[in-house]
Amino acid sequence: MSIGPANSTPPGSNNTSPSPWNRWNSLPIWSQIIVGMVLGIVTGMWLGADAQALKPLGSLFLNAIKMLIVPLVFCSLVVGVTSMEDTAKMGRIGLKTLALYLATTAIAISLGLLFGHIMEPGAGISLATQQQPVESQSSPSLINTIVALIPQNPVEALANGDILQIIIFALALGIALTMVGEKGKPAISVFSGLAEAMYKLTALVMKFAPYGVFGLMAWLAGTYGLEVLLPLLKVILAVYVAGLLHLYGFYGCCLKFLGRVSPLRFFKVVCDAQIIAFTTSSSAGTLPMSLRCSQRLGASTSTSSFILPLGATINMDGTALYQGVTALFIAQAYGIDLAAADYMTIIATATLASIGTAGVPGGGLIMLTLVLTTVGLPLEGVALIAGIDRILDMARTTVNITGDIMVNILVSKSENELDMAVFEGVKKPEVAA
Ligand code: ASP
Repeated sequence: MSIGPANSTPPGSNNTSPSPWNRWNSLPIWSQIIVGMVLGIVTGMWLGADAQALKPLGSLFLNAIKMLIVPLVFCSLVVGVTSMEDTAKMGRIGLKTLALYLATTAIAISLGLLFGHIMEPGAGISLATQQQPVESQSSPSLINTIVALIPQNPVEALANGDILQIIIFALALGIALTMVGEKGKPAISVFSGLAEAMYKLTALVMKFAPYGVFGLMAWLAGTYGLEVLLPLLKVILAVYVAGLLHLYGFYGCCLKFLGRVSPLRFFKVVCDAQIIAFTTSSSAGTLPMSLRCSQRLGASTSTSSFILPLGATINMDGTALYQGVTALFIAQAYGIDLAAADYMTIIATATLASIGTAGVPGGGLIMLTLVLTTVGLPLEGVALIAGIDRILDMARTTVNITGDIMVNILVSKSENELDMAVFEGVKKPEVAA
């Protein structure tokens, strides 16, 4: 196939027009992923249920990123702690991070409730209020949760991918390695070499992202045809509109006024991680990309490797927002009036529930039952939401990981751990290409 007019190449000279393959490869990765996503949706709509056959392509990509999570988090956190000599600074970073994570989540759920109230997604769907007695769910006690943070067997924690236990063990090991001084140095350099290799592996896996995303989107579009989506379009719309507002409006303001950095530059760089979150619906699965984007924004790897894994586990703004919208949707669909106190209960429960939500697809739906139970809403409402949960999960996961990276940038900036020259794109980041 010739590209361009036939007479554009002078006789005798070499045809230097790049082949379509080279042109494709020269596109930035985010545009390749968007092409994969759009082609995936079109193919899925066209093939319908047969698009299931393309799912393995997506699973291959998902497995490859999951393979990176545990070694990446563990090695980079150990190295991060050993490079942070100031222990008071570590404590300060921890407190600031927790405070920001909780505050942004509480704001997200309030926004969800506001949109659920204004848009009334459940109005018009009148379900029989055969109010079933709501079984009370027992949530794990605070003491048990804290005790379970310490892994009895770190190898088991690593094998199970228990991120909170891995964080605790990596912090402890990093501190101990620093304390033993000279003798700890060989082990530190092993972890440092492994962490570098994991960054490189992340970059390599990212090259496969457009094809993996194509497979995932084709399967999703084929599974959720228009018939499934139409009756619940208003819930989807409410979650997406509120999510977009939280993401670009609220995070944009936080970056501009609290962090005094350019929101535009931030959103340009994080879109790689956002697309991965959107297509995989997993904060934990997006961790390698979140770390990579933070490095490209100039955040130091030592702080990022603490703040981001913690965020992927406990910070779920998108999930909290979704719980606000869906709780109101269910109340409206069943014709149940909620009092002001119920709204407060939803805000408190959803903020705490988001800490316990696993950063995996569908984690938020499980926690929704906890929120519904606390305010006495019918649990059968979950069945309504379950049908479209994946579509909502894509949006909420995107918000979740953007919130993690945003907090990372704010805390890093406040602790002088953000290289502004890299952030502004003037200096090249030290990231594996
Ligand atoms: N999938 C979400 C996440 O990984 C959790 C959820 O289901 O809300 O962040």
